[in-house]
Amino acid sequence: MLSITVNKTRCIGSGDCVETAPGVFQLDDEGKSQVVNPTGAADSSIVAAARSCPVKAITVVDGDTQLYPIPKK
Ligand code: SF4
Repeated sequence: MLSITVNKTRCIGSGDCVETAPGVFQLDDEGKSQVVNPTGAADSSIVAAARSCPVKAITVVDGDTQLYPIPKK
């Protein structure tokens, strides 16, 4: 299972992540994205949702590997 976090301070509520993976992300009462089900979509769709975020508020980690944003070496 992926570890998915949304930086709500950074989130501007654009809804792109919800559109890409509605089974995983939903907007909360304040219009900020939250993770409702970390297994609600294929891993590739979750990474695509993170990539779709205009303000890079979503971090996706698989075990010891950060999938998005791609860590700088
Ligand atoms: S795509 Fe980014 S800014 Fe838009 S709702 Fe999702 S986390 Fe927030």
